[in-house]
Amino acid sequence: MMNMKRCPVCDSTDVVRVPDDAHRYLANSICITKFAMVKRIPVARYVCCACGYVENWVETPREREEIRKAFG
Ligand SMILES: [Zn+2]
Repeated sequence: MMNMKRCPVCDSTDVVRVPDDAHRYLANSICITKFAMVKRIPVARYVCCACGYVENWVETPREREEIRKAFG
């Protein structure tokens, strides 16, 4: 859905990207600890406005590598 901008469930192209916001109380981000610091990895959501299907994406390779190091 991130690359195609098309919903895999209903085939609609009415897909919007909802950016993560670390300052919100209920952010979607993944927390990792690094050198005793907590770091938030942003997780963007892609929402199909036609059927409500949602996908979560960690968008940059650097952030995915940090998650691999923390949890892999
Ligand atoms: Zn859909």
